[in-house]
Amino acid sequence: MKTSTEKARETARKELKSAPLESVIDGIISEKLNLDPSVLEHEKYFEIPDKMVMFYKYSYGEQSRFFSELMNHAELYGSKCKKCGIVHFPPRAICSECYGETQWKKVSNVGTVLSSTTSWYATSEFFDKVPYAVGYVKPIDAETGMLQRIDLRGREKVDPGAKVIARFKEDRKGVVSDFWYEVVE
Ligand SMILES: [Zn+2]
Repeated sequence: MKTSTEKARETARKELKSAPLESVIDGIISEKLNLDPSVLEHEKYFEIPDKMVMFYKYSYGEQSRFFSELMNHAELYGSKCKKCGIVHFPPRAICSECYGETQWKKVSNVGTVLSSTTSWYATSEFFDKVPYAVGYVKPIDAETGMLQRIDLRGREKVDPGAKVIARFKEDRKGVVSDFWYEVVE
């Protein structure tokens, strides 16, 4: 008898195509154009499917150190208010409680779950992780928490107050998915 967790994993794996994304897109385009032109003929304005690839850079601004520490050192940084002492995670340049300036502060990899929900579907990056939780996690030495993916390690949910620990990808790119949390046994 399969558990619902095992069934969801099986479905997710079936969805995950072994072909690279590019050839899947090409397949869809070729199918629309060549195999069933009538799909297009009923359109009021004649349209043909095409694809667009865009390269761009964006700035993390005042949040930059959070991402550089994450990528280069696999460490989590919050910010501590110089006026009232609150530690914000994720970091804030200005304190949301007293509008004081903040300074960078490394926070613990150990955290507690404030709230969470279990996800039974995913984009391609997380197909093999289903089911997983998405929840607010507060490091034990911070006052606020951030929304992040939580690896349930076989469970179907995680309750508020549960202890979690941050895990980091080997190949980090300076993006928020470079780390996730994992339920501590
Ligand atoms: Zn403050």
